[in-house]
Amino acid sequence: MVVIVGGGVSGLSCAHRLHQAGVPFTLLEASDVPGGRVQTDQHEGFLLDRGFQVLLTAYPEAGRILNYKQLGLRKFTSGALIRSGGKFHRLVDPWRQPLQALPSVFSPIGSFADKLKIAKLRASVSSKSLPSIFDAEDRTTLAELKRYKFSDKIIDQFFRPFFGGVFLDPELVTSSRMFNFVFQMFSKGAVTLPAGGIGQIAQQLAARLPSDQIRFGCRVKKIGENEVQLEDGSKVSSRVIVLATGGEATARLLARPFGSHQRRQVVCMYFKAPKAPFNEPCLVLNGEGSGPVNNLCVPSLVSPRYAPPGQHLISATVLDDFIEEDLEPKVIEQMHAWYGSQVNDWEPLRTYHIAEALPNQAAGVPPAFTQGKLNSSVYLCGDFCTQGSLNAAMYSGRLVAEEVMDKVQHH
Ligand SMILES: Cc1cc2nc3c(=O)[nH]c(=O)nc-3n(C[C@H](O)[C@H](O)[C@H](O)COP(=O)(O)OP(=O)(O)OC[C@H]3O[C@@H](n4cnc5c(N)ncnc54)[C@H](O)[C@@H]3O)c2cc1C
Repeated sequence: MVVIVGGGVSGLSCAHRLHQAGVPFTLLEASDVPGGRVQTDQHEGFLLDRGFQVLLTAYPEAGRILNYKQLGLRKFTSGALIRSGGKFHRLVDPWRQPLQALPSVFSPIGSFADKLKIAKLRASVSSKSLPSIFDAEDRTTLAELKRYKFSDKIIDQFFRPFFGGVFLDPELVTSSRMFNFVFQMFSKGAVTLPAGGIGQIAQQLAARLPSDQIRFGCRVKKIGENEVQLEDGSKVSSRVIVLATGGEATARLLARPFGSHQRRQVVCMYFKAPKAPFNEPCLVLNGEGSGPVNNLCVPSLVSPRYAPPGQHLISATVLDDFIEEDLEPKVIEQMHAWYGSQVNDWEPLRTYHIAEALPNQAAGVPPAFTQGKLNSSVYLCGDFCTQGSLNAAMYSGRLVAEEVMDKVQHH
């Protein structure tokens, strides 16, 4: 029997693969719901994702494991609205139509030369295989952009808020391998939310597993030789233990150090509003470099289920460099500057501060843990062993399941 500790996306994907192969397992999850970092709360008739998060349909592993149709995926428009110089500017589809992306020579976002460079970057990244992207030289995202000779203006007004928001890294020190991977994913597919919230992804994975093989409310306290000890003192024995517990909890269980430099934090603030500040399902980016909100969207314009009829949900994301106590007044002040007096009608719903949202993926920084076999009975999987993405968490879970299957079937 295999014990999987942790019912986030990686643990669920591991369980899914074992279940397919008929390998008996028990999944132990500390909380009372599946999903880990991929959850949606219901609050006053609104759907609040625990942090703004999207599914890129081009993710290869996600495409393999998820039923997109059943998730009722809703697309964002592929450009963005960029706040710069006190105005909003439209960036049209930089992924598929890079030459039209920065619409006119009058657009203050990027020059004509930048447009050509986006087209060049797209052509170069799109033709690469994923292994070659991850084997390529590792430099920072900023160094990669400089290598393509993008202007400082387009870096600060588009790349920094966009990819800073994806990696939760406004400095753009994240590895160019991740940048090229994510750029390819944006070029090849759509940016989506499941109609019923991002948590539907975890719900779909969990629903495929026999419910008597998942135990919620089971926090593992200690890993022993061929057994795990739960917080209530009881023990579950197993020849194979898969830890899919995220960085910090894995470090605690293995008595290893794990510092704040190994993770990225984020704050997501939700407001309800009688009227949306714009009327399309797009992403708004802060290209001004000042003010706490890096990016904003109206999830209820992407899928109406995010808000009760006649209301809208606004999601504002604040990155590391602006996270502080008492953020709300600063966010509201910035929103007043952006959208004027309508913001008087916005009401704060809930704020999520996620201390361990993503692994630190800075260039040259190896993952906190090595994926796969740790010793004769313990295996590790999850984004902290690979990369911070839904796709990587799913892939990691499957690969480790296959490694475990090899062990179980050869004994
Ligand atoms: C705000 C935010 C935005 C993101 N944006 C995106 C995005 O846009 N696109 C994208 O692809 N990815 C995004 N991600 C990343 C993606 O969500 C993660 O990479 C992925 O969910 C990690 O899954 P995991 O299974 O590795 O870890 P986790 O989800 O952390 O799962 C770990 C599980 O282990 C459980 N656990 C921990 N300790 C114990 C214990 N002792 N006993 C039992 N159970 C335990 C936890 O309760 C949890 O359920 C984002 C993440 C966040 C938080």
